[in-house]
Amino acid sequence: MKPGVFTPEHELLRRSIRTFVEREVTPEVAAWEEAGQIPRTFWRRMGELGFLGLDFPSDSGGAGADFVANVVLGEEMARCRSGGVAFSVLVHTDMSSPWLVRYGTDAQKRKYLPGIVSGVTVCALGITEPGTGSDMAAIATRAERRGDRYVLTGNKIFITNGVYGDLYFVAARTGAGQPDRRHDGISMFLVERGLPGFDVSRKLDKMGMRASDTAELAFHECPVPADNLLGVEGRGFQQLAAGLQRERIMAAVLAISGAAQALEDTLRYLSQRTAFGEPLAQRQALRHRVADLATEIEAARHLVYHAVELYARGDDCITEVSMAKLFATEVANRVAYQAVQLHGGYGYMREFPVEGFFRDVRLWTIASGTSEVMREIIAKRLTWDNPRRGGNT
Ligand SMILES: Cc1cc2nc3c(=O)[nH]c(=O)nc-3n(C[C@H](O)[C@H](O)[C@H](O)COP(=O)(O)OP(=O)(O)OC[C@H]3O[C@@H](n4cnc5c(N)ncnc54)[C@H](O)[C@@H]3O)c2cc1C
Repeated sequence: MKPGVFTPEHELLRRSIRTFVEREVTPEVAAWEEAGQIPRTFWRRMGELGFLGLDFPSDSGGAGADFVANVVLGEEMARCRSGGVAFSVLVHTDMSSPWLVRYGTDAQKRKYLPGIVSGVTVCALGITEPGTGSDMAAIATRAERRGDRYVLTGNKIFITNGVYGDLYFVAARTGAGQPDRRHDGISMFLVERGLPGFDVSRKLDKMGMRASDTAELAFHECPVPADNLLGVEGRGFQQLAAGLQRERIMAAVLAISGAAQALEDTLRYLSQRTAFGEPLAQRQALRHRVADLATEIEAARHLVYHAVELYARGDDCITEVSMAKLFATEVANRVAYQAVQLHGGYGYMREFPVEGFFRDVRLWTIASGTSEVMREIIAKRLTWDNPRRGGNT
């Protein structure tokens, strides 16, 4: 473990989250995966235990801890044996609600944070659209100002917590944006479930992350109170870009913590399984393969913790975060492939956790910025002898 990232307080927190996960979450996740839904009682319990606002200031109902506390939460939730549960939680704690703490007005915080922290209000982030994902600046959902409201029209897709959520952080276009400044003119809104003209048009059926619900959303002339504009009108892209670093760190944390657990499972399996008269763990070819996997996981962890430290200090860390997200999620997928392979036929069976991990982890080179987009960001920030270097993603 990299020294200096986690304090004794973080380790205490880790123990309490791990106990909660082992006792109250892991025994239930098979049912939640089957149902494609996480019960409301889970969210309330997380709230009761203080896990849903760890790094929010105490005057906002949070625990007043630092960002690293959320990294601990991510690492421990990733061990619950359902990528979907961990993903849903992190969408709530790290990929949506921090926008409210950072950009919300006092009135917005007073209205929404108590529910978010207590687990009564489940949050979702609505950026991706049927026509655009990686190219965030191309979103087409429109928000037109009419008196004391903005009227939203458009569609969102792949929205985690979108089916059963309560509060949606939605990106929509409020201005035209110029051809040379296409990132301008996007704004963020807090949209409550139940507004007229706002429908969950589809619950999407997906390969993995089964316990987390994923929605297609439709807005048709949906009136959102002007007071629910989040941050500055027209600066939504810039606000989102700042928060994407946190989202990407958390994607890397979930992927690599899950990979470490899949490796633990594999070591246990290889120790117990015999073939040709001895435990598979005695085979040098397999021992070397798991040694490579352990080394890759360790390297990825160090890269992730380095990004965590830079982010926690408020340093410019776009390159390091992109590298950590790229490397950790690719490593985790290699680990998943080998973990299934090393389990033989059992690795293909639902009752073995590596099977679920293999499906869940596939998401992480896609969501929160694909591997290709990460490479593009890194490449833009390298020093080239040509005018196309530099970027603002
Ligand atoms: C289960 C799941 C949950 C999700 N949850 C959310 C959520 O809660 N909220 C939300 O807003 N979104 C969510 N997403 C959306 C996710 O962030 C997008 O799928 C992702 O950003 C990729 O966008 P896309 O699917 O439109 O792919 P595209 O952008 O169409 O990309 C298709 C392919 O082209 C490649 N590509 C694109 N641009 C470039 C380029 N410039 N150079 C090289 N290659 C490129 C991509 O890497 C990819 O391989 C979720 C997705 C999934 C699958």
